[in-house]
Amino acid sequence: MSTEGTPSGPLLVVSAHAGDFVWRAGGAIALAASQGRRAKVLCLSYGERGESAKAWRQGLALEEIKELRRDEATRAAAVLGAEIEFLDAGDYPLRETDELVDRIVRVYREVDPHVVLTHPPADPYNGDHPAASRMAVQARILAQAIGYPGPGEPLGAPPVFFFEPHQPEQCDFKPQVLLDISPVFHRKREAMECLAAQQHMWDYYTDLARRRGVQLKRNAGPNLGLEHATMAEAYMRLYPQVTNVLA
Ligand SMILES: [Zn+2]
Repeated sequence: MSTEGTPSGPLLVVSAHAGDFVWRAGGAIALAASQGRRAKVLCLSYGERGESAKAWRQGLALEEIKELRRDEATRAAAVLGAEIEFLDAGDYPLRETDELVDRIVRVYREVDPHVVLTHPPADPYNGDHPAASRMAVQARILAQAIGYPGPGEPLGAPPVFFFEPHQPEQCDFKPQVLLDISPVFHRKREAMECLAAQQHMWDYYTDLARRRGVQLKRNAGPNLGLEHATMAEAYMRLYPQVTNVLA
């Protein structure tokens, strides 16, 4: 078995916009919460400009859209069993600043995550997602440094998993890890349905989970007890898996 073992500590999800964590990692979040682990979502922005087209077409003002997205994401996080914090850093563009990275470092130091999920570093359709990825990784690096001037203890070495982007082939994304989310998929679906501003995504991400579930079973073999799995999420690892046995 992996020396990383069965994770028991907190899960931290760094999400560029208010919906990203639901589509791409809602299953992992619900799974962690169902195991009694602390799960925290950090939304860097509300996705108010770039991922709220329906609300703009309805004629809502910027502040109203931010409030709407905040409310939706808060309800979705509650359904998944996660805490959520919004940094309201603005989107389209999400700007990378030392100040924003520092705020993320403080969250790392407070949560002390054992697992980190965020966007992959390439996305030619969306500049905010790679920006969030770079800041999430940079903040992890800084949070590990004992000399970094921030509260709390230096961070350990939590593995970082990139969740699946909307157009994976264009983002150099290959599913290296397939996570069985069958037992909690109903929670993910319920959380997706909290995001009325992006209703066109509900069935898309249900279908994707089903396809990844088929691939999970194809790759699982007979010994993992996953013969009844039907739904999965895909991830890539940033850092090597650490183990004392190849399995
Ligand atoms: Zn997004």
